[in-house]
Amino acid sequence: MAGIYIHIPFCRRKCHYCNFFSLASGKLKEPFLPTLKKEIALTREYLAGEPVNTIYFGGGTPSLYRPGELQEVMELLTPAPGPSPRGEGSVLSEVTIELNPDDVTEEFVAELKQTWFNRFSLGVQSFSDEDLIYLNRSHTAGQALRAVKLLHEAGYENISIDLIYGIPSVAPGIWQQNLETAFSLDVPHISAYALTVEPGTPLAWMIGKQKSPPVCDELQADQFRMLVEKTREHGYLQYEISNFCKPGHHAIHNTSYWNGISYLGLGPSAHSYNGTSRRWNVSNLSKYIGCLNNSECIYEEEQLTSTQKYNEYVMTSLRTMWGCDGKKIILDFGFTIYDFFRKNALPMIGKGWLTEISGVWFLTDEGKFFADGIAAELFYTMKE
Ligand code: SF4
Repeated sequence: MAGIYIHIPFCRRKCHYCNFFSLASGKLKEPFLPTLKKEIALTREYLAGEPVNTIYFGGGTPSLYRPGELQEVMELLTPAPGPSPRGEGSVLSEVTIELNPDDVTEEFVAELKQTWFNRFSLGVQSFSDEDLIYLNRSHTAGQALRAVKLLHEAGYENISIDLIYGIPSVAPGIWQQNLETAFSLDVPHISAYALTVEPGTPLAWMIGKQKSPPVCDELQADQFRMLVEKTREHGYLQYEISNFCKPGHHAIHNTSYWNGISYLGLGPSAHSYNGTSRRWNVSNLSKYIGCLNNSECIYEEEQLTSTQKYNEYVMTSLRTMWGCDGKKIILDFGFTIYDFFRKNALPMIGKGWLTEISGVWFLTDEGKFFADGIAAELFYTMKE
């Protein structure tokens, strides 16, 4: 089974911290969808006929389009989910849309009901208006609360909210309040990310010019600790370092990325993976549209080496609650590589960063602070 990711490259305005490929201008919004449909016709074969079980509209801001317009795109990708005359043989089970809270109106939700969407990822980031202004988000905390309410009233339960911690906010205690508000909303999934200062963003400029306090590592670590503790107390599983769910509510689409399942990425800057190669589309909307109109290639591609596959497996699996499986390393990459892994992983048990249970390796709570560094220590370089 495979997943499909569709990148919608428009936003109402740019958030100060954002380095995703998205444009604050809607100038090319109209020609974008017909171009996307051309890309679908040209690239569907990448998944070699694998049935599609998840579709994910991300961005950018997919909710800048009407749900019905996105539905038309989905219908080109796979038969309808569930028992319907057109759904024969469909394994489509999870269809997610990222929503900006200010787009979620009564009308919008009524239109959603006519589509296949069954999972909703709300870009809340904070329930403090002060934080939202600092981040240059286009919505208010009140709009986020109303969005969850409208989705609930429409009978949708599969809702995820995104939060950001480590915001150098003037008001102490906001992070704790954010978590408490999130729990009070009774959503089964929370994704929480540390505020990262990406070079070239307005946030980096603001900090460089001392117009904002710097992002503080200690504050982020404290808030991450609180996040892990409080989500646990409220019955959420930390199934990936930044993702927390009530049992049975993990995101199937995102979990596929971490488990090495094939996916096709559509739209500018989208990435694809099919077990043997990786592709990445051009991160330029004019080029994307121009090339597809002239039937020219819009992506670069690399065949993955065994080393790359091993390194990716270690990096992604360690971040999850399912851990890094020694047996899988032996089966897929051989004993020599597992020996290498073990030799380098054992000292990290002593440091309290890793544990091993029946041949499966996990990050400890403390190890989660150093996940990238730990994975890098376990990377292998070998001749192909
Ligand atoms: S809404 Fe998301 S993609 Fe758009 S600017 Fe903000 S962070 Fe970036």
